[in-house]
Amino acid sequence: MTMRDSFATCPRCDGGLDEKGTRLVCTQCEGVLVPELDVMKLVAEVRTLNVGEAVEPVPLDLETTETTEQALRCPRCLTTMAKRVLYGLTVDRCEAHGIWFDGKELQAALDHAGIARLKTARTLSTERKVVITLTTAAFIALNVIRFIYF
Ligand SMILES: [Zn+2]
Ligand SMILES: [Zn+2]
Repeated sequence: MTMRDSFATCPRCDGGLDEKGTRLVCTQCEGVLVPELDVMKLVAEVRTLNVGEAVEPVPLDLETTETTEQALRCPRCLTTMAKRVLYGLTVDRCEAHGIWFDGKELQAALDHAGIARLKTARTLSTERKVVITLTTAAFIALNVIRFIYF
């Protein structure tokens, strides 16, 4: 294995990785490595859409886990990534390069982030919460697609 190959390979499926801005996206399984600051900004964006007022990015709530799932290697530095739980999903984290999300995990994490915020949004009426919940998935999908591919 050459250095170039090892840096350009998906940690999940060995597929090729494309640089998309600050992210690395797998061309086969749609896994993606996202810098933590970008994830924080996305969560803030989703929450802003949900509550209708600006929400500032805050550090991610990454919980430790005892999972026995196989650890992945960071596609940028090949360090073994740590398993962390983010909004109920087990993800892989390189402290230097960010978080690896499999396939639809990024969208799922953002969905959870939006719902978690809604439950604590006291300023919203119940009717507004219902309307927002129904439209959130579409907003999030659009944002994620824009974010990953452009
Ligand atoms: Zn892959
Ligand atoms: Zn790394």
